[in-house]
Amino acid sequence: MKTQIEPFKIKTVEHLYITTVEQREQYLKESSYNPFSLRSDRVTIDLLTDSGTTAMSSKQWAAIMDGDEAYAGSVSYYKFEDAVRNFSGFKYIIPTHQGRAAEKVLFSVVLNSDSVVPNNTHFDTTHGNIDFLGATALDLPTDEGVQPELIAPFKGNMDIQKLENTIKKYGKERIPIGLTTITNNSGGGQPVSMQNIRETSEVLHKYGIPFFIDCCRFAENAYFIKLREKGYENTPVIDICREMFSYADGALMSCKKDGMSNTGGFIATNNEKIAEGCRTNLIIMEGFLTYGGLARRDLEALAIGFTEVVDENYLKYRVGQSTELAKQLTDAGVPLVLPAGAHALYIDAKRFAPHIKPEHFPGQSISCELYRLAGIRACEIGSIMFGRYENGQYIAPPMELVRLAIPRRVYTKSHMDYIAEAVIEAYNNREKLRPMKITWEAKFLRHFTVKCDYL
Ligand SMILES: *Cc1c(COP(=O)(O)O)cnc(C)c1O
Repeated sequence: MKTQIEPFKIKTVEHLYITTVEQREQYLKESSYNPFSLRSDRVTIDLLTDSGTTAMSSKQWAAIMDGDEAYAGSVSYYKFEDAVRNFSGFKYIIPTHQGRAAEKVLFSVVLNSDSVVPNNTHFDTTHGNIDFLGATALDLPTDEGVQPELIAPFKGNMDIQKLENTIKKYGKERIPIGLTTITNNSGGGQPVSMQNIRETSEVLHKYGIPFFIDCCRFAENAYFIKLREKGYENTPVIDICREMFSYADGALMSCKKDGMSNTGGFIATNNEKIAEGCRTNLIIMEGFLTYGGLARRDLEALAIGFTEVVDENYLKYRVGQSTELAKQLTDAGVPLVLPAGAHALYIDAKRFAPHIKPEHFPGQSISCELYRLAGIRACEIGSIMFGRYENGQYIAPPMELVRLAIPRRVYTKSHMDYIAEAVIEAYNNREKLRPMKITWEAKFLRHFTVKCDYL
C-alpha cells in the first residue's frame, strides 16, 4: 500500500477552536500582533512548539494511574531508569522536571566562569544556562549547516576542524565538557550523522574532555541516520540509538520532545564524579534522586514514551508528516529551509517576503498573517528574536525564519493539508504582507512578550 496512515486510532478527542477571520483580526490586535500573547482557545492549529505538546497513548494514561507517589525509592523511578538505560546504555540516570533543569544541574557541577563549551549549535536555554554561569558557549556548525537552500543529509553536524581549533585555541583545561545537540534544533532541526558523533567523540576524548549529547530528539536523529547514512539501512533504530550514545560520556534531555510526554528531563552518564555532583545539586535544585521535580506518575508516562518513540512505524509517520508538508509547500514555490527536519518546518521569510526589510520583521508579518488567515500559530525566529541595534546601526541575525513546529501524534493528514493551504495562500498574496514595528519590548528574550504593530 502506498497511502501513509497515522499508526494510531483515536480514543479521546479534543475539540478545536474554530474562529472567523474577523474575530482573529480582533484577537491579533488585542495581543499586540504577538502570537505568543494569544490565548490558546483562540488558536485553531498550534504550531508554536513541539515541546510538551505530545498526545500521549492510552498505555501512557493507563500507566499514570499506576504511578507510585512514594517520595523515596518510587517503583515508577526504576521503570524510568530501566527505560532510559535501555536506549542509552548509561549507568547513572538522574531525573529533572525539564531540559533546562538538567542543564542547570549539570553545568553548575562542571563549569566555572572561565569555561568554554563547544556544541554544534546551542539551544537557547542551553546557551542561557552557560551564560548565566559566566562561561562561554560556542556554536560550531558546518558551513553547509548555515545555508538554508542547500540540500544535504546531515546539516546538523559539528565542524570537526573548528572543534579541534577551538580546543587548541582555548586549551583543554578551559573546556570541561563538549556537547552535540541531536537533532540540531536551533540549526533547523537538522540531523547529525553517526560518523560526526564518532568524530566529535574522538577529538574530545583525545584531549580528555567528557562528551555529552543534548538528546531531546534522539529517536528522530536515529531514524534520519537509518534513512540517510550508508551502512545503517537495515539497522534497527534502537541499535542506532545505542551506538550514538556509546560514543558519549553522558546525555541530557528535555523529555518534552522524544519522551512522548508533556514534561520531564534527565541527566544520564557513566562518569561517576559528574553523577555524584549532579545528585548533590539535584537535591538542592529539583528534588530527591528518584523523582527530580516530577510527579512519579510522569516517570511512568516517560518509561512507556521511550518505547513508543523508537517504534519505526511511528518514526516513519513522524518524518513522513513533515516531509509531505515540505513537499506540498516547495511544489507551490514556498521557500523553506531544506531538507525538512522532523519536528518542524522553517519558512525562509527573507525569500518569502523580500519587500520587507529585516528591521521591519518579515517573519512576524508572515506569522501574524497565518493566524489571521487560518488560526495557525507559528513562531518567528529572526529579527524579533535576535535583532538588535548597535550605535544606531541595525544588526540582523543571519536568517529570518518562521517555524512551524509539529506536535507529536496531534494533527492528522487533513490538518496538515489545511496548514499547507494556508501557507500557500499567504505566499500567493505575499506582496500584501506589511512591514511591522515594535511598540514595546522587554530587556531580555523580548520575543515572548514583545508588542508590535504595522508600520
Ligand atoms: C527544548 C530543548 C531544551 C530545553 O528543554 P526544556 O524542557 O524546554 O527546558 C534544550 N535543548 C534542546 C535541543 C531543546 O530542544
